[in-house]
Amino acid sequence: MSAGSDPVSPLEQALHAARALVLADLVAQEVAEADVVSMVEDSVVQRRWWVEQWPDGAAYVAGLIAQDVQDALLERYGRWPLCPVCGTGDPHALDVEPELGPDPRWVCHKAGVRVAAVGALGAATGGSSPS
Ligand SMILES: [Zn+2]
Repeated sequence: MSAGSDPVSPLEQALHAARALVLADLVAQEVAEADVVSMVEDSVVQRRWWVEQWPDGAAYVAGLIAQDVQDALLERYGRWPLCPVCGTGDPHALDVEPELGPDPRWVCHKAGVRVAAVGALGAATGGSSPS
């Protein structure tokens, strides 16, 4: 446990924030199990390298990590995050938009709607019933 006098770099802050956003969405859909969390960590490690090569991409890491985790989950578990908007038809996953850009959002291409910002999926799926 070293206190460390280094200030936290903007890159680390961006990575930390991105990690928290993706974890929040995993929790929202109740898939934040230990091995899933380690998928997030793996992605953070890779994106740290990526963003060190291209610091201007710091704003993009949340969307990229969300997509990395989505791909990893698809191989191991299945689709994530499931669309909370379409009540009928085949279950399908949301997509991140933009694929490479700031302020990533989950969108349903089937319904053509923006569901939630990455990190805010819990608010979209939080079970508040329409009145
Ligand atoms: Zn949908």
